[in-house]
Amino acid sequence: MKAIEFENVSFRYEDESPFVIEKLNFSVEEGEFVAILGHNGSGKSTLARLANGLLIPDAGAVRVFGVTLSDKTLFDARRNVGVVFQNPDNQTVATIVEDDVAFGAENVGLPREEIGKRIDFALHAVGMENFRGATVARLSGGQKQRVAIAGVLALKPRAVILDESTAMLDPRGRREIVDVVTRLNKEEGITVVLITHFMEEAMLADRAVVMNRGEIVMQGKPEEIFGRQEELITYNLALPRIGVICNRLKEAGMPIGNTLDADALAEEIAKCV
Ligand code: ADP
Repeated sequence: MKAIEFENVSFRYEDESPFVIEKLNFSVEEGEFVAILGHNGSGKSTLARLANGLLIPDAGAVRVFGVTLSDKTLFDARRNVGVVFQNPDNQTVATIVEDDVAFGAENVGLPREEIGKRIDFALHAVGMENFRGATVARLSGGQKQRVAIAGVLALKPRAVILDESTAMLDPRGRREIVDVVTRLNKEEGITVVLITHFMEEAMLADRAVVMNRGEIVMQGKPEEIFGRQEELITYNLALPRIGVICNRLKEAGMPIGNTLDADALAEEIAKCV
């Protein structure tokens, strides 16, 4: 089954303004982990907001787990597709971690006992079970983002979209978030759409999609996209230094695989000598 499906979707923010997204066709399979890459203004956020009904298309249809988004289906769609945004400080609403995680679940009117169970599940899923009574303001950026993810998970979504949710974090915080979503995808079977600027993060996905000016311009296995360095540059996407080195070594005739991990690259090179 398709988790998210865009059929000829067009959208613009104002009546007379140009379309930001035009006749876009795109889908994500249930259980898939898709990374969306693209420079600023390429339409990634707009796509995320269309996928969970925060924005409504001007033409075409968005389907979420087989249901076409409309005024009548929005509520369920938002429960099925959770979105985590960029700034952790804008997403926390309560002072104490467990109250914050419970907020969304309380808003949909779940019974107390069920909310308690969901807080346990969600905090465990993001590795924050020891912070249940902690003050949100005292947490690191990565921990706050994990609490934000837990709040989304408490609604038991079938898919989670992370809209640049690692952009404001330090490398350690980014690693924490990527580890959590990879685990949610592999162990809980939750569909993941990870919108990111970081090629390293995209490498962990089943499929990488590159957006430019509201269009999907490249898609495929992350390792394959990675090998198309010149094309990436035309879309203002740079490979990290280690990726450039990896591609140079291959051009020089070394039979190595694509990797952005220094240790893995060292191993690949060691196999060749
Ligand atoms: P990305 O997430 O890739 O940075 P966005 O989806 O945020 O891209 O933006 C796509 C285009 O839509 C850009 O040209 C941006 O200026 C425009 N845009 C985004 N949000 C709004 C808004 N609220 N009102 C008007 N234009 C917007």
